[in-house]
Amino acid sequence: MRLSQIFQQRKFVLSIEIFPPKTVEGDIALKRHLETLVQFDPAFISCTYGAGGSTRDRTLQWCKTIQGELTRTAMAHFTCVGSSREELEQWLSEAVAGGVRNIMALRGDPQHGQAAFQAAEGGLSHANELVSLIREVHSGMGIGVAGYPEKHVEAPSLDVDLAHLKTKVDAGADAVFTQLFFVNDNFLRFRDRCETLGIRIPIVPGIMPITDFARIQRIISMCGTQFPAELSRRLEAAKDDAASQFEIGVEHAISQCEALKAAGVPGIHFYALNKSDACQKILEAIQ
Ligand SMILES: Cc1cc2nc3c(=O)[nH]c(=O)nc-3n(C[C@H](O)[C@H](O)[C@H](O)COP(=O)(O)OP(=O)(O)OC[C@H]3O[C@@H](n4cnc5c(N)ncnc54)[C@H](O)[C@@H]3O)c2cc1C
Repeated sequence: MRLSQIFQQRKFVLSIEIFPPKTVEGDIALKRHLETLVQFDPAFISCTYGAGGSTRDRTLQWCKTIQGELTRTAMAHFTCVGSSREELEQWLSEAVAGGVRNIMALRGDPQHGQAAFQAAEGGLSHANELVSLIREVHSGMGIGVAGYPEKHVEAPSLDVDLAHLKTKVDAGADAVFTQLFFVNDNFLRFRDRCETLGIRIPIVPGIMPITDFARIQRIISMCGTQFPAELSRRLEAAKDDAASQFEIGVEHAISQCEALKAAGVPGIHFYALNKSDACQKILEAIQ
């Protein structure tokens, strides 16, 4: 099913994001975790595209597993990194031939060793160009794009970043999925500003349950997400106690999700980090 149909048919669109594991053991474990999470009836499961195209084939293989073995709709993430326009078109054709009907269209991060993003020769510079390309060559695809409630790290301001988000939406995106955040007010302000700009497609908050404080600290240092001081203090105090960190993280995510649902969000996109335990507890609490 395509993204636009999913949002038409469902009042609340739950989605789960995974990344392709690097080992057979990882594949087996992920399948087990997904079998647990499909019980919560996610509308789709999305699979990331590794930095620099490193998971080119595995992303598509996982989409096939999601749609075949797990009988769920898949969304393949796809970036412009390191590919010419022809190579992008070729991958898209492979995705379509493999049954993929939804793409998360992204620019991608600068490649290792590069300070700033550089388009490949004959390639694309921004996600809006990828959205246009997909609409041109596979017009019926469902297309998701990334949104940044606290602005993208490279953007000089949220206003500039929002103007760029609008170009992605105008190019034909069906829904916006946000970067993770821990302060709901930042998301709600972002949603209001999208509304003012005339962005009328669903804006879905991205939630990453905290299960390991050190890992989350590394992630937020890269994306510049605000972290509540009180939450940080509690997690710091539990830094030698993995079980307490997990509990604190799940409790925070539950309160975030409950408040977002009360604020009328069209769905929640969970960054599950290939695990089911935290998402399971959150989903049991909020459904
Ligand atoms: C939901 C989600 C899923 C993700 N999945 C992946 C993944 O699977 N693989 C991966 O490698 N990365 C992934 N990312 C990370 C993403 O690739 C990075 O955040 C990347 O740095 C920006 O990608 P983008 O699509 O937002 O780029 P863009 O929308 O192109 O924006 C990048 C920067 O350029 C600016 N900009 C945008 N358009 C223009 C324009 N036309 N002219 C000038 N400036 C412009 C923006 O303001 C922003 O600062 C994901 C992010 C999110 C939120």
